[in-house]
Amino acid sequence: MLSTTELTEIQSLLSTPKKITIVCHRNPDGDAMGSSLGLLLFLKQLQHQVTFISPNEYPDFLAWLPNATQTVIFEREYDKALPLLQNSDYIFTLDFNALHRTGDAMQKVLETLSNPMIMIDHHQLPDSYAKYTFSDVNYGSTCQMVYDFINALGYNHLINKDVASCLYTGIVTDSGSFRFPKTTPQTHQCVADLIDKGINNSEIHNLLFDNSSYERLQLLGKALQNLRIVPQYKASYITLSQEELNAFNYKKGDTEGIVNYGLSIQGVIVTAIFIENKEEGIIKISFRSQGNFDVNEFARKYFNGGGHINAAGGKSFSSLEETVNQFITILAEEKERKEK
Ligand code: 5GP
Ligand code: MN
Repeated sequence: MLSTTELTEIQSLLSTPKKITIVCHRNPDGDAMGSSLGLLLFLKQLQHQVTFISPNEYPDFLAWLPNATQTVIFEREYDKALPLLQNSDYIFTLDFNALHRTGDAMQKVLETLSNPMIMIDHHQLPDSYAKYTFSDVNYGSTCQMVYDFINALGYNHLINKDVASCLYTGIVTDSGSFRFPKTTPQTHQCVADLIDKGINNSEIHNLLFDNSSYERLQLLGKALQNLRIVPQYKASYITLSQEELNAFNYKKGDTEGIVNYGLSIQGVIVTAIFIENKEEGIIKISFRSQGNFDVNEFARKYFNGGGHINAAGGKSFSSLEETVNQFITILAEEKERKEK
């Protein structure tokens, strides 16, 4: 948590109406959207003028979140987003640890700004751009951090049903429905309070996970057919080419969670999904692991990315096939290095 002095300063700055902007990382997920909208709906009750700016579009499966449709999309609404950022008294940056996580276009703008920033984030190795940094890798989600932040400021009574629904969303999605190792007694205590605030937890779960299109399930079928195991490295991987995505009428969010299937195979401790994005000229990669295999380090070192020990992402500028070959070669080299 922030220090008592920092909290007192933040309490004081929030005690009079301010212009506040909230930003999250590019390709926002449930935790980025949930924490940003939860914080926004909390701050609005304190009479601040608050806007949430996402670098790019959010997936359809999160569009039901309270206030989601008011989101300003930086890469589509630059003329609207720029003055909002420039005129902010404070900018909250949520669910990321370095400005480049907002993408090239938004990073350039954020780097030119001298407006004070407040970071709330649970990724490793936070950069030091913010005036106030609440960074803690022990949290499973930024949403749980926002919950603690609001409580530390003494505003638990302002966590209403809508704020709670947003925060619950990120806790559920980032914890894999309460199964990943950072799910703690505090997580369940937080969720117990959110349910007390009136959220419909079962309905939210349905909205998040039982809302697939038929085509999304067919795409999942294709992904599972493409799943390969590399037993000598206790690894597996999935590929999805642009052509395959197009064949199933791919929409943003459709590949969410597919990577986890690679880890559900007996004996596999590290897995990846490689998704071709012809428009951006990249292969977007998600990594997942169990135990000590550090995919944050792996993604940082070899694939222009990062994240957490057991869940990370990155990208490659090579072809799909070359990227997969690189992945296997690196696994071989890493194995050899560890055995030495
Ligand atoms: P996912 O695989 O679900 O997209 O992401 C897993 C974790 O890695 C998340 O915490 C996400 O923020 C992080 N992550 C995903 N892609 C990137 C990336 O390109 N760079 C960095 N630094 N982190 C990423
Ligand atoms: Mn997160």
